[in-house]
Amino acid sequence: MTSDIMSTAQPEGRSCQLHPQSMCPAFGALRVLARIEGSHPVLASDTGCLYGLTFVTHFYGARKSILAAHLGTDELMGGEVIESTRAAIEEAAKEPGCALVPVISLCVAETGGLAEEMLPQRAGNADVVLVRVPAYAIHSHPETKDVALSALLRRLSHTESVRRDRTLALLGEVFPADPLAIDGLLRRMGVEETVTLPGRSLDDLQRAASFAALAPLHPFYSDTVAFFREWDIPVVGGAPVGISGTYAWLQSIGSLLQLDPVVVTQVAEEERERSQAVVNAQPLSARILVTGYEGNELAYARMLVEAGAEVPYVSTSIGADPLVLPDETWLRSRGTQEIVYRKSLEDDIAALDKYSPDLVLGTTPFCAAAKERGIPAMYFTNQLSARPFFLSGGMAATLAFIQQTLDGKPRYEWMQAFFTEATDA
Ligand code: SF4
Repeated sequence: MTSDIMSTAQPEGRSCQLHPQSMCPAFGALRVLARIEGSHPVLASDTGCLYGLTFVTHFYGARKSILAAHLGTDELMGGEVIESTRAAIEEAAKEPGCALVPVISLCVAETGGLAEEMLPQRAGNADVVLVRVPAYAIHSHPETKDVALSALLRRLSHTESVRRDRTLALLGEVFPADPLAIDGLLRRMGVEETVTLPGRSLDDLQRAASFAALAPLHPFYSDTVAFFREWDIPVVGGAPVGISGTYAWLQSIGSLLQLDPVVVTQVAEEERERSQAVVNAQPLSARILVTGYEGNELAYARMLVEAGAEVPYVSTSIGADPLVLPDETWLRSRGTQEIVYRKSLEDDIAALDKYSPDLVLGTTPFCAAAKERGIPAMYFTNQLSARPFFLSGGMAATLAFIQQTLDGKPRYEWMQAFFTEATDA
């Protein structure tokens, strides 16, 4: 075989990594677009994708119907993609209160070709925004959130908006109590308004260019961050996670927004003391593997290391990005040996063999593999990301939950022994 012929054969010595590593990545984009009030998404996709993604959307509580162009083989072969999509847009725009129709063009429509200029810009009272999500090429669901948000900003934000001092846009879908806690602390420093993107408000998207600074809480919104940089809006590095991370983040905000340095330092020091008190009250002593596909795994690992844990291995589904680099450097300088981007389940299993952890945080199949060995395991998405994470309050909630799971080790060992005996009998 010549080297320019593609093959699906596995390189010698490697197990097969061609099976799906997560559910369809497009659900991240669909979730962001379905959550916006007044938004009625249209999927340009085939029936199989529609079925799976609609199920996932309802699982995440979108509580609205997803309309779809009818794209079967006949329509694709007959070149009816545009007609079918336009018909679905018209229907979506008739929904009561519809102000936005995002048209999510998925793998099949992207491969077949969907010309933007053939779609309407408006339908009824709604803006129509094409969001191209060739999910096979984007790889992870966090990154499709970035694709969705940047498509909305490109089209809807009022770039001529007057910049408003002492205002901040937080970037990242987080536990609902987190932005409230962050906003409360920042207001004590003198910040006058914060909003969180992506959120439910169309208005926040339209006035995105008026904020004085952007603070990405998650490190995978690279297209969105590029927009803010284009608008000449400064971007705050890091995130309010852990003891040192939160202190540095608050100081950066103070400096970028030109707040009173005395007040900022006072608030930042108080928060640092609270975080230190959390760690003093419940220090961790355990070896933990942090794996997931949320995109914020490095930030979690950082918090655990600060609390005393050993984290030799971190993996994530997102690709390497300058926004992740500070956390990566911080972790490597404190003993983390492997940080894997675009990881596969096989990478994680190899780490399980290599490091003999006391606890793993990870995806469903990886947690199942750990539990089979009697190792406590926690689902990243459903258990960890469904709790507060930021500032001292988030730290307290996260560390308490981690410790509680570690304390359950005897139960995991008992289960493993029980099922081993049952299998042997
Ligand atoms: S074909 Fe593309 S959009 Fe459809 S389920 Fe697969 S990855 Fe998702």
